Amino acid sequence: MITASLTLQEQHSNYLRELLLTTDGKERAAYVLCGKAVINADPWDGQPHQKFISYEVIPVPEDEIVSFSAKHITWKTDSFVRALQVAQAKNLTVAVFHSHPEGLGEFSTQDNTNEPDLIQLAQNRNGSDTQILSVILMPDGNLIGRLWISSQEVISLRMIRVIGQKIRLHYPNRGLGVSPPAFQRQALALGEALNQDLSMLSVGVSGCGGTGSAIAIDSLGRPTLNPSVRQLNECHCHFWVHQGIVEWCADSGQK
Ligand SMILES: [Zn+2]
Repeated sequence: MITASLTLQEQHSNYLRELLLTTDGKERAAYVLCGKAVINADPWDGQPHQKFISYEVIPVPEDEIVSFSAKHITWKTDSFVRALQVAQAKNLTVAVFHSHPEGLGEFSTQDNTNEPDLIQLAQNRNGSDTQILSVILMPDGNLIGRLWISSQEVISLRMIRVIGQKIRLHYPNRGLGVSPPAFQRQALALGEALNQDLSMLSVGVSGCGGTGSAIAIDSLGRPTLNPSVRQLNECHCHFWVHQGIVEWCADSGQK
């Protein structure tokens, strides 16, 4: 079975929040053109995987919105056709983003009615192997997405990552997992959610010999390293963890 995931650059995620989470509480929409990597067999689970990454955000112009409220949005398809045109020329995939200002955490009946028409339009214009993504942005910043393969075939995205200064993960049932007993100490130190997040990732550990440094929790419950880690030999790295983020000191790498 094909699986699919989406990676949003943080700058694109920020722009989408600005465009879609407006103060009037009405739904908004935008397109994101995405590049695609096709992995025939994921080395971890052996499944074929399609990995999309954001390339450009295209707003839906206000004058193309036909009607909108807190529960729906309808817009002319002109801008969608323009996005398909660019996507075809640049070998990209169109993702349609819209907001659910009232916090409905699933695709609505209207979404389920409209989106088969969009994928049909996309395939009529750009060819029968054209796919589109559809993503809901929730008021709390959560993201839920799916990939349309044809008007009858749709799969949920197994993961949406936002990558920038921080890494944020969105996947079904995030936060509901319970750690196995073996990871209880880690859960106590870094929070239950971290174990579930790690279980969804393939993690490469790149060590500088800081293993064993004292991990503490700051006043807001974020992991922190105090004092900093400084290697006096080999790579001479020098870093500490501030506000939950690894920060490299200016003299890192210097003897
Ligand atoms: Zn919707």
